[in-house]
Amino acid sequence: CGIVGYIGKRDAAPLLLEGLQRLEYRGYDSAGVVISGKSGGLKTVKAKGRVRELESRVPKRFSGTTGIAHTRWATHGAPSDDNAHPHLDAAGQVAIVHNGIIDNAAELRAKLVADGVEFTSETDSEVLAHLIGRSAAETLEARVQEALSRVEGTYGIAVLHADFQDRIVVARNGSPVVLGIGENEMFVASDVAALVRHTRQVVTLDDGEMATLKAGEYRTYTTEGSRTAASPTTIEWEA
Ligand code: GLU
Repeated sequence: CGIVGYIGKRDAAPLLLEGLQRLEYRGYDSAGVVISGKSGGLKTVKAKGRVRELESRVPKRFSGTTGIAHTRWATHGAPSDDNAHPHLDAAGQVAIVHNGIIDNAAELRAKLVADGVEFTSETDSEVLAHLIGRSAAETLEARVQEALSRVEGTYGIAVLHADFQDRIVVARNGSPVVLGIGENEMFVASDVAALVRHTRQVVTLDDGEMATLKAGEYRTYTTEGSRTAASPTTIEWEA
């Protein structure tokens, strides 16, 4: 349903929670957030119910300057803490948030289970975390591309990886993804409402397009890897 991401110098969690609140008007049944912490690992909090409930579960020490967050509108699997996004791969190194529906999730899941992968949710989305986590490609971008080449359906996704802490990788196919360009910080969201408090400079991804966000730069390219033009436009917004 809703995606928010941040990479920069500020503490990510308060920015992400505030962004989720701005997406509440769209409706949702659960919410979650993942931060890549200074110590190296990914820290996740998820909750069925309101963003306020999620906020109350976020521990005092939940610091980190990169993170992604989600409000879920369940399509596959009931609303629950476990089915809330983000979803992690088995090693806990990859975290994804996903809007949309993976049509061939049941088939992909059966193959992964046959390979010994243990799932922790009933969602269609979780296959993406495992596919990215099991890719042997060199870069995070190539791992995401490999995973996406295997899925059919619609997605707006954001991906964090514990071994690639300097970036967030995002992709769009049938579900909106908008980049928000700041000063030495970048935002991403599924809806400009979550960005406008921080920047009016936005890049709207097309279907089949991806982006890599780093604190001070971003680049856009297709799911096949060719670069795309990405000049930000300035949005008008009545505060
Ligand atoms: N299909 C996914 C799920 O049920 C994502 C739903 C959404 O767009 O929030 O978890």
